[in-house]
Amino acid sequence: MMANGKMAGWVESLPRVRGRYAFDVDLSRTVWFRAGGHADVVFRPADVDDLAHFLATRPADVPVTVVGLGSNVLVRDGGVEGVVVRLRQGFRGMQVRWDGARALVEVGAGALDMNVARHCRDQGVGGLAFLSGIPGTIGGALRMNAGAYGHEMADVVVEAKALDGDGALHVLAPDAMGLSYRHSTVPEDWIFVSAALEGRREEPATIAEHMEEINAQREASQPIRARTGGSTFTNPAGRKAWELIDEAGCRGLVRGGARISEQHCNFIINADRASAADIEGLGEEVRRRVEEKTGVSLQWEIRRIGRHGRWPQDGGEDAA
Ligand SMILES: Cc1cc2nc3c(=O)[nH]c(=O)nc-3n(C[C@H](O)[C@H](O)[C@H](O)COP(=O)(O)OP(=O)(O)OC[C@H]3O[C@@H](n4cnc5c(N)ncnc54)[C@H](O)[C@@H]3O)c2cc1C
Repeated sequence: MMANGKMAGWVESLPRVRGRYAFDVDLSRTVWFRAGGHADVVFRPADVDDLAHFLATRPADVPVTVVGLGSNVLVRDGGVEGVVVRLRQGFRGMQVRWDGARALVEVGAGALDMNVARHCRDQGVGGLAFLSGIPGTIGGALRMNAGAYGHEMADVVVEAKALDGDGALHVLAPDAMGLSYRHSTVPEDWIFVSAALEGRREEPATIAEHMEEINAQREASQPIRARTGGSTFTNPAGRKAWELIDEAGCRGLVRGGARISEQHCNFIINADRASAADIEGLGEEVRRRVEEKTGVSLQWEIRRIGRHGRWPQDGGEDAA
């Protein structure tokens, strides 16, 4: 399908690329929440050079947003303006190099955390099993400093490569990434393209056991098969977000098709064809009640992107 009338002007001036453009793409089909609007354009670059060329030559006023697996993102109902970059084939390489008992794992930013964990297990690389509990890509894990069960990306990143908004490549040492709890200070418009992670020699059977433990703990504590965005809010200093939400009486709270998980009340579930507005509105209601009850102002961990309102904004052909 071609671009609708409103975007046609800038779509015509998108650079020639080796990867693929797709127009008017329903993002709700691929993000974890299974809610929200369309992207004007989705670009799947062929490789790093293709992405760098795109960033260097795209029309300057067209916004660019990168979405990994969409496991920590809420796409608003009005959709995402401009180009959404998604790293797929060409960004999923994995290679292990050994230096004695120390392993350096080079991974593309589009690689799935789970696949990296499995690859490391098979190669006898310990220290990265925590990635098996995080349902995203390496790019999303770098941006969010993702972590679980006492480990986070900051513990294992040796180096990351990112393209800035003009397509220039930057090689970042951990110090330059400003990684802290679910946060990185790397500019928001930079796109991670790869990383080198550190591990150590360990028996595959031991790593497999550890991964099974992680899996069992997750099954018991998180709604991992639900349509969700993971933890909705970050834990405030010295407190757990879920405890505050529980204290404010929000466990099981519903708005439209969205519900606060009974199993883990820092998770919002798309229980019944929720709109992004239902999900965001429920989150804001929880923030209001928690602040009223406890005085603590919860901060969103989930990244909310795109426009409020209904898709399409201009009543185009997808309006039905
Ligand atoms: C059931 C469930 C359980 C979860 N459990 C955990 C957990 O235990 N620990 C944890 O930390 N998280 C957890 N999460 C949240 C989520 O999986 C992580 O934050 C993950 O790292 C997000 O990766 P993603 O590829 O899905 O990124 P997305 O959700 O697509 O994006 C998240 C952010 O990263 C940015 N981003 C994505 N790719 C890139 C890139 N290549 N370069 C620059 N920026 C990029 C996006 O623009 C966005 O701002 C969970 C989520 C779910 C649904």
